[in-house]
Amino acid sequence: MFDLKEWLLQTLLKLNLTNFMELKYGFTRLGFSKQEKLAHEQFRKIASNLGLKIWQDQVGNQWALWEVDPNAPTIGMGSHLDTVVEGGGYDGVAGIVIALGAIRELKRKNINPQKNIAVICFICEESARFGISTIGSKTIAGTINKSMWEKVTDKDNITIRQAMEEYGINWDHFQNAYCEENRFESFIELHIEQGNQLHKNKKDIGIVYGISTPIRLKVTAYGIANHTGTSLMDERNDALVAISPLISIVQEEALKINEKSKHPLVATVSTVNVQPNVMNVIPGTVELGIDIRSVDDKLKRDFAKNISSHCKRLAEKHQIKVKIEVLADEDSVIRDKNIQEKFSELCEHMGLSYCIMNSGAGHDVMNMAKRWPSGLIFIPSINGISHHPDEYTPLRNLELGVSVLTTYLTNEVGGYHK
Ligand SMILES: [Zn+2]
Repeated sequence: MFDLKEWLLQTLLKLNLTNFMELKYGFTRLGFSKQEKLAHEQFRKIASNLGLKIWQDQVGNQWALWEVDPNAPTIGMGSHLDTVVEGGGYDGVAGIVIALGAIRELKRKNINPQKNIAVICFICEESARFGISTIGSKTIAGTINKSMWEKVTDKDNITIRQAMEEYGINWDHFQNAYCEENRFESFIELHIEQGNQLHKNKKDIGIVYGISTPIRLKVTAYGIANHTGTSLMDERNDALVAISPLISIVQEEALKINEKSKHPLVATVSTVNVQPNVMNVIPGTVELGIDIRSVDDKLKRDFAKNISSHCKRLAEKHQIKVKIEVLADEDSVIRDKNIQEKFSELCEHMGLSYCIMNSGAGHDVMNMAKRWPSGLIFIPSINGISHHPDEYTPLRNLELGVSVLTTYLTNEVGGYHK
């Protein structure tokens, strides 16, 4: 019996290792955890039921391949099955369910593809455990930093290396999961939006123009810690007083930029660390973390420069020292124009409402896009809620996702009916 909706629901439940999607505390499957491994095992079962060839690569990514000819080009699709702590059951999982659903549709329609089709569950996509994201896709794309990763720890002081080894990965060889150029012809990730644009504007599908990667600044202000009772007001060197105007400056300057720029820019003072953070001591050192994003790289870099000069001005005004460190600054990833156009045309043909949009969140596809022509497709998140137990995307939208990918693949693989 054929019922796509029911199959999607059952697959969603299996990959989430649950009988109900509505769980009070959501889903917790951190990268390289036992839970992530169990979800990968479910994926293996489902994929082999679809007749796909399955294997785990050296870093722990789970592959499922519909191989028609080892020498034919391969279209890759994929996403992830790990989650944040108490996250939703759709982030990552929806993309895997839909990719498998599309393959099931092709088989049901007796399409005989002329190209191979691969689905990949990338390991440890979320930065929730180690502060480092997309470990699996970075390894495939060859953008790893092994010496740094060896030292990075989770909150229980377990290093990435230890976590990988416990998972069964060989630390000395995991980089061999790297893929050569001819591994893929193209790559598509389908993901829930995790924002509210599609739901608010009643669109079925989002076709991503660019993914904005952040510039991250760490600003450290050095004042002098002293007794709050005995230091007179005109004799202080309060680091918090000196640097705190920066919080409003970041907000106000970002609002100003958005009034006139084509692409939006978002900027957030997202962390504050006050030292010694004691009731009767004047703050001696304050660290602010600032996250700045836009798909317009010049805009975000100019903004970071502007913020740096405000820091210097505040330092002079309050006679303190300020240090600015750039923790991250990568070029934003712009989609493959050709793939974007194919999806736009296909949505028009199918009578689906869609919009071209940007992604404020990072995804595995941004690593893949550095090596292969890639596309990112969004389906709605109700009320834009994500990384939260209330994350929800109706089955109807998963079904539309399957139709879109099925049509795309049918066009791409040049298949014919058997
Ligand atoms: Zn995700």
